[in-house]
Amino acid sequence: MSKPALLMSACLCGQAVRYDATGKPLPAEWAARLSARFAIVPVCPEMAGGLPAPRAPCEIRGGDGYDVLAGRAEVMTAAGDNLSLPFCRGATRAADLAREHDCHVALLKANSPSCGSGTIYSGDFDGRHKNGDGVCAAALRRAGLAVFSELELEQLLQEAEQA
Ligand code: SF4
Repeated sequence: MSKPALLMSACLCGQAVRYDATGKPLPAEWAARLSARFAIVPVCPEMAGGLPAPRAPCEIRGGDGYDVLAGRAEVMTAAGDNLSLPFCRGATRAADLAREHDCHVALLKANSPSCGSGTIYSGDFDGRHKNGDGVCAAALRRAGLAVFSELELEQLLQEAEQA
């Protein structure tokens, strides 16, 4: 039987896609456990939306990812540039990719304005967090995926075993 597909933040796969053109790879043991259980489908929604690496870091002002998708909040750089459009475009692309690969589960980088799930950076560039999902996490949950962060790996594998 083929392995189920897992949509995964490309930075957690070690790809140099973060705002500072680095990756954030999972520890080797965890990468091996996930690869044994899932067919990994990497995606960086910010780059899929057309942004380069490196790029200015962004945070969500005035809400969370659901609010950005609804046009009630904005993804901003510290310099005041509004990048909501590429973030929404990338989130849509990630949801399309999930559908193309029949992904029902996603593992996304914690706290990111795109990939964060449950908590994201505050919007004030002060290093603090607020409750909410990033733009991509919101789009994927809306599409019916279960979303986990790298802080919930044990839970992800436990739920996969029960599925
Ligand atoms: S958008 Fe997601 S995948 Fe891309 S660098 Fe940020 S956290 Fe990683």
